[in-house]
Amino acid sequence: MSDRIENFINSSAGKKVLGALGVNAPRELARYTPSQRSFFKGRLLLGAGDNAALLAQVSKILAESDAEVVGDDNARLQCTALAQDNGSDAPFAALVFDATGMRDSLELVAAYRFFNANIRKLAPGGRIVILGRPHMGADNAEQAATQRALEGLSRSLAKEVGARGSTAQLITVASGAEGDFGSSLRFVLSPKSAYVTGQVIAVNAVEQSGNVDWHKPLAGKTALVTGASRGIGEAIADTLARDGATVIGVDVAPMEDDLVKVMTRLGGQPLIADITAEDAPAKIASAAKQAGGIDLIVHNAGVTRDKTIANMTEQQWQMTLDINLAAAQRITRELLDQGLIRNGGSIVGVSSMNGIGGQRGQTNYAASKAGVIGYVDFMKNDEQLRAHNITVNAVAPGFIETAMTAAIPLFTRMFGRRLNSLSQGGLPVDVAEAIAFFANPLSRGVSGNTLRVCGQSWFGA
Ligand code: NAD
Repeated sequence: MSDRIENFINSSAGKKVLGALGVNAPRELARYTPSQRSFFKGRLLLGAGDNAALLAQVSKILAESDAEVVGDDNARLQCTALAQDNGSDAPFAALVFDATGMRDSLELVAAYRFFNANIRKLAPGGRIVILGRPHMGADNAEQAATQRALEGLSRSLAKEVGARGSTAQLITVASGAEGDFGSSLRFVLSPKSAYVTGQVIAVNAVEQSGNVDWHKPLAGKTALVTGASRGIGEAIADTLARDGATVIGVDVAPMEDDLVKVMTRLGGQPLIADITAEDAPAKIASAAKQAGGIDLIVHNAGVTRDKTIANMTEQQWQMTLDINLAAAQRITRELLDQGLIRNGGSIVGVSSMNGIGGQRGQTNYAASKAGVIGYVDFMKNDEQLRAHNITVNAVAPGFIETAMTAAIPLFTRMFGRRLNSLSQGGLPVDVAEAIAFFANPLSRGVSGNTLRVCGQSWFGA
């Protein structure tokens, strides 16, 4: 029965019914494969408002890609004309606009002109990137308002281009971080961010240097991933190993066979532990110590125990809070106390869209996932983390196709996966790519972010 309904929804008649309801048929999203030579390929239109600060740096970053850049750092507002003068009607694979110099709301018209003239030329699966400044770092209220306006612009552009599988993001680059946003720009321009759209990535100034191989950014690093035997955790382990990391995968005893299979495939190390057990922090710290310290911990293990609050037992409440939130904090504290997260390392939590928007029947789950966001937001200022250049971030997945979402009742599932700007569910690898981006040694300026991997879900937006 459910197959027949699913077939109907995927048929042309079904698509018409969904279309009438404003739900678009999904466009297949391109994902990263190691055969891609560089992070970006294609025509890219680069524009800017007055006093833009990042054009030279953007050009330098793009020089490492296969981008054919139209417009240059002297072009500013004239880059639109330059593109037309170029005589080519070929579509753009990306539109990048540097708005860092804008100080007055009426100057935003430069961004209007740029996108008004060019958005129709954005190819399906294209990328829009706006570069701005954090509004709270502004010199005055007018500048703050102007910079914050870019968020509304970029999120709305994401909604306008999502049906064609295109994405739009804003990167805010703090003063002094002009050399630190390269990994963020590469990520949002590349297919690694296929299911990330309508997001803001904040980059702060840090001390970091050196080059990283785009295909093996985590070479020589050790990563510990909880809940690594299946679903999103397995994809995280796969992706980190693909990027060069050695993975220690943690899961509960009943998942041992699956965990061993995954770790054997990746040349990683399985570690059986219930993260809520009293001895779990010590056990995990001991494995980290044997590895000579770790560079990344991903707190992915999570459960749902759904009931409306009136019907929920205290055990269902407490167990969910402990696995999804408290256990991760205890483990992180132990690793930090023992100095087992190396300089320049990363801590990543896994939140959820429902932690942002709330969900009926998920008071426990949403509380735990909102807690992850609060933890990350607070810990970014932790003295020990700052002293060791350790970042702390979270991903907030939306509807991701896993065993967890396959268990959702059919109609809720069918609609759930389409209620976002890209009209489809994401894949576990999409969450993993965002985590690998946080872990990239050149992402040290990215801390305290909760990045939604949700196709710009209509909920919690
Ligand atoms: P999953 O159920 O497929 O995998 C979770 C893993 O965590 C399992 O391997 C499980 O054995 C392990 N685990 C559970 N309790 C544990 C414990 N006490 N100790 C050690 N390991 C434990 O779930 P998934 O869909 O892959 O989700 C992974 C994470 O992503 C979870 O934190 C989940 O809340 C979050 N998330 C998922 C979605 C989605 O759409 N699937 C959306 C938002 C957030």
